Amino acid sequence: MHDIWVVAELAGGGLAPVSLQLLGKARQLADQSGGRVIVFVMGHEIVPLGQELIKYGADEVIIGDHPELAFYRTLPYARVMTHILQERRPNIVLLGATSQGRDLAPRVAARLQTGLTADCLDLSINEEGLLVQTKPSYGDNVMVDIVIPEHRPQMATVRPNVFPLPERIEDRKGKITSVTVNLEPDDLKTVVKEIIDEKHEASRLEEADVVVCGGRGMGSKENFEQLYVLADALGGAVGATRPAVDENWIDDSYQIGQSGKMVAPKLFIACGVSGAVQFTVGMEKSKIVVAINKDASAPIFNFATYGIVGDVREIIPAILQEITTA
Ligand SMILES: Cc1cc2nc3c(=O)[nH]c(=O)nc-3n(C[C@H](O)[C@H](O)[C@H](O)COP(=O)(O)OP(=O)(O)OC[C@H]3O[C@@H](n4cnc5c(N)ncnc54)[C@H](O)[C@@H]3O)c2cc1C
Repeated sequence: MHDIWVVAELAGGGLAPVSLQLLGKARQLADQSGGRVIVFVMGHEIVPLGQELIKYGADEVIIGDHPELAFYRTLPYARVMTHILQERRPNIVLLGATSQGRDLAPRVAARLQTGLTADCLDLSINEEGLLVQTKPSYGDNVMVDIVIPEHRPQMATVRPNVFPLPERIEDRKGKITSVTVNLEPDDLKTVVKEIIDEKHEASRLEEADVVVCGGRGMGSKENFEQLYVLADALGGAVGATRPAVDENWIDDSYQIGQSGKMVAPKLFIACGVSGAVQFTVGMEKSKIVVAINKDASAPIFNFATYGIVGDVREIIPAILQEITTA
C-alpha cells in the first residue's frame, strides 16, 4: 500500500494554503498509484480541521492535539511527527517548503535516517513506483529529478503555489484519528512568550491576494519605498526581482522567481520589471497582472492583463492618488 502523507501546517487560525495544494497533488498521485492520502496535523483545538481536510481530498486525517503544540516549536513537533511516522511507516511524506516545513522536515528525516529533497517544484511517480522529486539545482541552472530508492519514507518539501488548490467536495467521506501526544521535558526547553506579526513579513508574500513587485526599473531605494505605500493601500505584500535584492533595496527573502518565492495572487503589479523567464516562472500563476514599464517592448507585457507604458515614478503616485481619493 503506497500511502502518501501530507503534514499539514496551520496559518492564521486555519490551514496553510500550501498544505491544501499538497493535499491536491497527493490525491492525484495516490489515485494514480492506488494508495491512500493521509494528512497529519499538529496543533491545539484543531479537531474541526479534520473534516475540512477530508473535503479537500484526505482519506484519513490524523490529529496530534495538545496545548504544547498550539504554536510551532521544533522539538515537540519533531517528537510527535517522528513517533507517528515510526508507527505507521508511510511510503511518502510531503511538507510545504515554508519556514516551518524547512525546519521540521530535515530534523525528522535525520531521526528516521531517510532521504529528504528540499524545495521541490514538481512531483510524480515513476514506473518503479518511486516518488520523482523535481527541483532546481547547480545554482538553479538545471532541473534535477531525485529519487530515494532504499530508505523510507521518501520525504520532500514543496514550494508554495506550485500546485493549484484542489476542489473542495462537501460530501467527501474519510476517517479522523487522534494520536496520543507524549512529550519529554527536554522537548519543551524553548518557551514561546509572544508571537508578533510582522507587517511586511516575507512569508506573507506567498499567501497574499495582492503582490506589488519592484524591479531594477524602480531606480533607487527611495523609489522602492513607494511600493510599500501602494501595497498597504491595497492590503497586499511587496516582492522584488533579483536585481532589486542585489541593490539592497529589500531582503532576499522577498525575491520572486526561480531562485526565490512562487506567488499566485489575485492581483500582481510589476513595477519596472523586464519579465525575464527566471522571474516570470515565480508569478505566472497570478490571476490579474498589471505591468508598468517605460519600454513598450518589455517581455513582461506578454504576461500582463493590463499594461501601462510609462515611468514608475509618475505612474505609481498617480495610482496612489486614485486609490486614496476613491
Ligand atoms: C540561474 C538564474 C536564476 C535567476 N533567478 C531569478 C529569480 O529568482 N528572480 C529574478 O527576478 N531574477 C532571477 N534571475 C535574473 C533574471 O534573469 C533577470 O536578470 C532579472 O529578473 C531581471 O530583473 P529586473 O526585471 O528587475 O531588471 P531588468 O531586466 O534590468 O529590467 C528592468 C526593467 O525596468 C524598466 N525600467 C527602467 N526604468 C524604468 C522606469 N523609470 N519606469 C518604468 N520602467 C522602467 C526597463 O525598461 C526594464 O524593462 C536569475 C538568473 C539566473 C541566471
